[in-house]
Amino acid sequence: MSLLAIGTVAFDAIETPLGKTDKIIGGAATYITLAASYFTKTANLVAVVGDDFPEEYIQLLNDHGVDTEGLQVKAGEKSFFWAGRYDQDLNSRETLVTDLNVLATFDPIIPERYQDCQYLMLGNLTPQVQKTVIERLRTRPKLIAMDTMNFWMDVALPELREVMTMVDVLSINDEEARQLSGEYSLRKAARKILAMGPKTLCIKKGEHGALLFQGDEVFFAPALPLEEVFDPTGAGDTFAGGFIGYLASTGDVSFDNMKRALIYGSAMASFCVEKFGTERLLNLTQEEIKARVQEFVKLAHFSV
Ligand code: AMP
Repeated sequence: MSLLAIGTVAFDAIETPLGKTDKIIGGAATYITLAASYFTKTANLVAVVGDDFPEEYIQLLNDHGVDTEGLQVKAGEKSFFWAGRYDQDLNSRETLVTDLNVLATFDPIIPERYQDCQYLMLGNLTPQVQKTVIERLRTRPKLIAMDTMNFWMDVALPELREVMTMVDVLSINDEEARQLSGEYSLRKAARKILAMGPKTLCIKKGEHGALLFQGDEVFFAPALPLEEVFDPTGAGDTFAGGFIGYLASTGDVSFDNMKRALIYGSAMASFCVEKFGTERLLNLTQEEIKARVQEFVKLAHFSV
């Protein structure tokens, strides 16, 4: 089933206690489409970059089955740039720079070939653009999932709340869930957020796993305790790409299947953090993914 992802395609500069990168390929949509590419034949991408974005980075996406017809390259403009620094424990991060650049005036154009997409992943970017993409699709996809972050809650909350009424699944982290709801208890936060529009809510808790809420149901996926964590950047987006990629590959959007998708998303995120940036997502095999999912099954399985 066809998948369409939007979000940032960016330059990132990352600092963790284990090292530092110059400007490397990053962006929410980059991680989403790379992760989803392991589940669907093509991941269609709608995004924008400036003409400073290297051709080889676009080729890298193409090499992973990402269709970049919907990636606009703006002459004379600069790509979105984000810089972040992680604390010693790699759990909290400080944003050092967010340069919207080309994103500030982004008008998303949907190629005709993408019109019949059944699964839409609205990756992290301007809520107004997320809304425009939904409006520009002639037929509503079978499933619309959306990711966002505190940055947009701070600068565009009314627009963000409006998009939330148009989507099926919202994916945010625990801090963002608390900010959005004003509740400390994630159970209470989930109830309030579900009342804002989405039928399903996924709350990511970094190295402490992820929670899935729908109606009165709640499901928990652990995160795999890893030997080595180098860089958590993109873990949330990789999770989202694996989650929606799995749903698209199975064509089943029931809550039971979403539980499986949560495990697949968590497995993909566990790979992402093992190396800097997108590196670990570039050469995965289906066998590695299968084995990783089995580790999750073993980790959480018990009988009473
Ligand atoms: P994650 O670690 O999953 O939260 O995602 C990190 C990615 O999000 C990086 O590759 C950044 O380029 C991108 N990013 C950072 N800030 C923003 C923002 N305000 N809007 C959209 N994408 C962002």
